[in-house]
Amino acid sequence: MIRAPRALALVVLLAGCLGPSEPRAGGPPDEGRSPDPDPPEAPPSEELRFAHEHAALAIIVDGQRANLRDPAYDLSRTRDVRAHMHVGEADGGSAVHVEAEFPGGIPNLTLAEVFSLLGMTLEGGRLALNPQAAHGPIERSDGERSTLRVFFRPMLPDGAFGPWTQIEDYPRWVPRHANRILVTFGEAAGEELERQLAEAMQPPIRPFNLGRFASPETQDGPLRPFAEA
Ligand SMILES: [Zn+2]
Repeated sequence: MIRAPRALALVVLLAGCLGPSEPRAGGPPDEGRSPDPDPPEAPPSEELRFAHEHAALAIIVDGQRANLRDPAYDLSRTRDVRAHMHVGEADGGSAVHVEAEFPGGIPNLTLAEVFSLLGMTLEGGRLALNPQAAHGPIERSDGERSTLRVFFRPMLPDGAFGPWTQIEDYPRWVPRHANRILVTFGEAAGEELERQLAEAMQPPIRPFNLGRFASPETQDGPLRPFAEA
């Protein structure tokens, strides 16, 4: 039961993303994860337990990175602790906190839900940024030439990062602790896409946010629960 360890390790922090990670719904087919058929994240009977994770998010629209350091994205404005940012922090505008009580202590917010809690939309091929931000309303929809794509990169047990993987069913994908996430709209390919992926690695998530809330289990052992995001 690969999920058991993770369930126990829920008070975990995600340094770049949040949520139970398995890209189950849209996950890339080549991840080598076990073929067990999409087991539930947690049985309904699981008690609610606190979880706190961090993931890093970059949104690039037509080659320009959206400024998520805008106060409109700060918790003081969005006001929902389940998924929020502290834009004044060193990694503000990058680190998304997922913090709440979840069944079994496993964060289960989808990427679409995270966006919604930050005042944005990421559904049905449509991306809309928080219109309250200084950048104003920005909306894009998947088209023939310009596409909306989402990539993630997990942190491995040794602290290095695994490969970038495109997520097909990104609205229902659940980010995990320490994931790096790139949401990109446009026609980026080749070198430009490489540039955007590199851009999405910055800024690094503060060690503080990577370790502060780790459970004793994850502190003592490898970051197993995060690795297979
Ligand atoms: Zn946090």
